[in-house]
Amino acid sequence: MKILSVNAGSSSLKFTLFEMPEEKELISGVFEKIGLKDSFYTIKFDGEKIKKEVSLPSHNEAFELLMKELVDNKIIDDYAEIKGVGHRVAQGGAYFDKSVLATDENIDIVSKLSQIAPLHNPAAVIGIKAAKKVIPDATQTLVFDTSFHQTIDEVNYMYAVPYEWYTKLNVRKYGFHGTSHKYVSMKANEILGRNDTKLITCHIGNGASISAVLNGKCIDTSMGLTPNAGLMMGSRCGDIDASIVSYVAECENLTASEVNTKLNKESGLLGISGVSSDSRDIEEGINNGDERCILAQKMYVKRIVDYIASYYVELGGCDAIIFTAGVGENSISTRKQILDKLSVLGVKIDEERNNIRGKETLITADNSKIPAYIIPTNEELMIATDTYNLTK
Ligand code: ADP
Repeated sequence: MKILSVNAGSSSLKFTLFEMPEEKELISGVFEKIGLKDSFYTIKFDGEKIKKEVSLPSHNEAFELLMKELVDNKIIDDYAEIKGVGHRVAQGGAYFDKSVLATDENIDIVSKLSQIAPLHNPAAVIGIKAAKKVIPDATQTLVFDTSFHQTIDEVNYMYAVPYEWYTKLNVRKYGFHGTSHKYVSMKANEILGRNDTKLITCHIGNGASISAVLNGKCIDTSMGLTPNAGLMMGSRCGDIDASIVSYVAECENLTASEVNTKLNKESGLLGISGVSSDSRDIEEGINNGDERCILAQKMYVKRIVDYIASYYVELGGCDAIIFTAGVGENSISTRKQILDKLSVLGVKIDEERNNIRGKETLITADNSKIPAYIIPTNEELMIATDTYNLTK
């Protein structure tokens, strides 16, 4: 059965088509700069990558082109062959603890949740509507970044703010990257050969979050009401003193929302280094002796270690530490710096094993008290799996 996994952003639309349940990836691609000048798309299949520059006034045209490419490249003969479409939705609030069908009622809830996810949910709704218009007969589903974190207890998800902010405004921790944390923790349990495990999953990409997973269920995570909480990220600040917002707004004559944009887009590795949000550029800066890149990296690693240490205590031990996403899968030096700082817990890196990028593998020594693994994430496959299960 052919299942399409879709991730719509405000000006982009990423997709991967799978043959399920074989989990075979047939084609993937991304439409970029939708609604802007110079829009284009790239598609990958059969080991080839093709780029085309086209006008993409809206997500509708992107979705129509996507379907046309599937036919032109003989991946399908007929639109009806696509039986299910799974949509990634960032914020499911406290409404969804699992993936669901994209009924009008559920889409309405996703729309309403735009209030707490203004950067993410409106784009998802646009993507869902475009897909429903072009292939109305396919089963459409919603797969939430937040649902894996719905098992978190209120002690961990509440903020110490006026209680009415929670009851009236839904202010609480929701967490994100749940699809990835779920995927890698399932894979880790397969590797460990059991499900009664204590895992610390580190999704470290441009956005970054860490979760504590007990017996397959998430008990805590570092992102919060929005993705800008917890770790220092590519361009997000993560945890900071909340009073900084009003202080900087007053001093610089900015609105709270303008300060928030700076905390999301001009902070993190980029803000400290002044160079880039990309950890490869930071590494290069460090090699050239750039002091601010050195400082940025030290701060970045410290936050990750702080969270791992805190979750180690919360879980009452740890059976495995998992690294995933762009930095977690590829940055040999960042992984080494993190694991070296965890030596107090008996963690021992194996440098030869760690000298690898993007492959599922053990990276600690056999006598390490806690094993650490790289497990490449596959959120698209997780979305397709949930969609297949709701479609078949
Ligand atoms: P997101 O999905 O949050 O946009 P990704 O998980 O794709 O992010 O991660 C992208 C980041 O991964 C890049 O910004 C870069 O910092 C990092 N990255 C990718 N490749 C490498 C590499 N070879 N070495 C170090 N970091 C890398």
